[in-house]
Amino acid sequence: MKPETLAIHSGNLYKSATGDVTPPINLSTTFFRDEDGGYSGGHMYSRVSNPNRSALEKVLTDLENGADACAFSSGNTAGMSLFQALAPGSHIIAPDDMYWGFKKQLQSIFADTLTIDFIDLTNIAGISAYIKENTVMIWVETPSNPLLKITDLAAISKIAKAHDLLLACDSTFASPCLQKPIELGADIVMHSSTKYIGGHSDVLGGALITAKRTPFWEKVRNIQQIGGAVPSPFDCFLLLRSVKTLPYRMRGHCENGMALATYLEKHPKVEAVFYPGLPAHPQHEIAKQQMSGFGGMLSILVHGGAEEARRVVNTVQLFAQATSLGGVESLIEHRASVEGPDTKTPQNLIRISVGLEHIDDLIEDFKQALD
Ligand SMILES: *Cc1c(COP(=O)(O)O)cnc(C)c1O
Repeated sequence: MKPETLAIHSGNLYKSATGDVTPPINLSTTFFRDEDGGYSGGHMYSRVSNPNRSALEKVLTDLENGADACAFSSGNTAGMSLFQALAPGSHIIAPDDMYWGFKKQLQSIFADTLTIDFIDLTNIAGISAYIKENTVMIWVETPSNPLLKITDLAAISKIAKAHDLLLACDSTFASPCLQKPIELGADIVMHSSTKYIGGHSDVLGGALITAKRTPFWEKVRNIQQIGGAVPSPFDCFLLLRSVKTLPYRMRGHCENGMALATYLEKHPKVEAVFYPGLPAHPQHEIAKQQMSGFGGMLSILVHGGAEEARRVVNTVQLFAQATSLGGVESLIEHRASVEGPDTKTPQNLIRISVGLEHIDDLIEDFKQALD
């Protein structure tokens, strides 16, 4: 089935006794045992599994064309659970512009157990030089944050396979609708469901989806169930509700993203626009091959430095000045001041999450702010 159909139907795992068309929220933390001690209802204790979470994991598995999924209480705990599953002493390769929360985790929480090389993964030919005897994983983030760099997943997967490395992809900016990392050779896909999957800026969540059920994946599942960083039944209900409209929301985000990027590219106050849908984007050809749409995230550099960037984010009316992305409402942010003093993000960079308002209103708003 196609994503639009899967998004609506594949999470409907149970027929409720009362005939609900929409699955109820199962708040019970514990489930009846059978006389022989078994659990014929399929669940024992809510940290281990819960009907709402199983439904969410099923729909995410199907949308990514994977074999299984683990849902977590945030994107950060999804990534952390994967890092925790790696043997101490392992070396991993990650992008130099990796999502800063993960970079922080690796440099602080995992400082004593993992070693990491943060490199430019758009330079495919340069990757092999960093592979060592203890390298176990290449972590890719595409499109990347905040420069919207695109990494060639099929090319990296060849390198990963040749060296027997895991390939993990943070696919948050693409959502499960715009690219299929597993089909391009990734072993594990990661999402912050807080973003496009949730889509309404009202629920935190994360997920890992695996291409195959392997012993390594069982370790990840064990960390989820024993560690317990799981989303609540209500969070899962909200995410399941949201995912039903994800394919259609993504069409709107792509359409608005492209139109706003095209408008901003021509504006004299704008020095550069980073959007993979623009032919001028350095990896536009790769984006065209591996994505079915270019999404709603873009960044711009404005002439006039940090001061002008802050003036613009304070002058737009419809774009809420706030961090995060992927919601129906447009957000705008001066990224360098969020990332702190060590950031390599240019001081005149503005990151935009283009929402689902009418594009004419969004462009009009930018026009008044820039002019
Ligand atoms: C937000 C985000 C995360 C972290 O997810 P949380 O749900 O905020 O914990 C990871 N990667 C990317 C690309 C993100 O945008």
